[in-house]
Amino acid sequence: MAHTAIITGGSRGLGAAMAKKLGEMGYNVVLAFHSASSQKLTEEVAAEIEEKYGVETLIVRADVSMFEECEKLVQATIDRFGDKVSVLVNNAGITNNCNWIDITPDQYQRVIATNLLSFMHMTHLVLPYMVNHSSKEDQCNIVNISSVGGLTGVINQADYCASKAGVIGMSRALALEYAGKGIRVNCIAPGMIMTDMLRGVNQDELNALAATIPEGYIGGVEDIADAMEYLLNANYVTGQVVSPNGGFVMQ
Ligand code: NAP
Repeated sequence: MAHTAIITGGSRGLGAAMAKKLGEMGYNVVLAFHSASSQKLTEEVAAEIEEKYGVETLIVRADVSMFEECEKLVQATIDRFGDKVSVLVNNAGITNNCNWIDITPDQYQRVIATNLLSFMHMTHLVLPYMVNHSSKEDQCNIVNISSVGGLTGVINQADYCASKAGVIGMSRALALEYAGKGIRVNCIAPGMIMTDMLRGVNQDELNALAATIPEGYIGGVEDIADAMEYLLNANYVTGQVVSPNGGFVMQ
């Protein structure tokens, strides 16, 4: 029987690409999304995964910034696929673009709740199932999507950078807590990748951004899906940050 993978923010962008990769790797995939407008998009991603890879999918609408919604998502997963959850990809995320005087507490609390607390909620809820069936031979994996913003500062993104640095700290601590128990915890810190997060930026600004990247171009979603695949297969890698960023940040 196929193992189960849960991915938050599976409707589009990096999440949709990673969801497809999980299907290709043979997992049954649970795709969580939030906006009503993303329902159809998520259904299309799920249909493509089922058709191409012959695995099963489940779509759950949940606002993962809220603990009760995460409980609903994990319960729906167990009800449908049983308790052998092998992979959790915490990916859902949002940004603000605001200086620290004009930003409101509601705005930055929303970023922290979506980008950091949701990762904590989901991991807290999924870990007990992983602990129950993980072993050195049959490992479980948590992959947390951080950002180069978590490695360095970005102007007008203090809340976002705080959330993404927090994700790295949390991942390292959990990697230690579960090392040797068949559960690995790692981060991906993408550089600039072409998704809806960058769609508002005009072509001149995109060209200027690309010029700041040593490799000379903005990355694609498949660069992040490949990094996730690497981490899921890399049995000796835990507590690490893999950063596909075209040389933009060198750790
Ligand atoms: P995106 O295209 O804007 O997609 C964001 C995803 O997060 C969507 O699936 C969205 O669901 C979901 N989401 C947002 N708030 C949610 C909530 N409260 N509950 C459940 N799902 C929620 O963004 P992306 O570029 O793919 O980014 C994915 C992750 O990569 C984020 O954590 C982001 O910070 C990180 N990242 C991106 C880049 C980049 O250049 N793109 C760089 C570094 C890091 P709906 O469709 O339902 O709204």
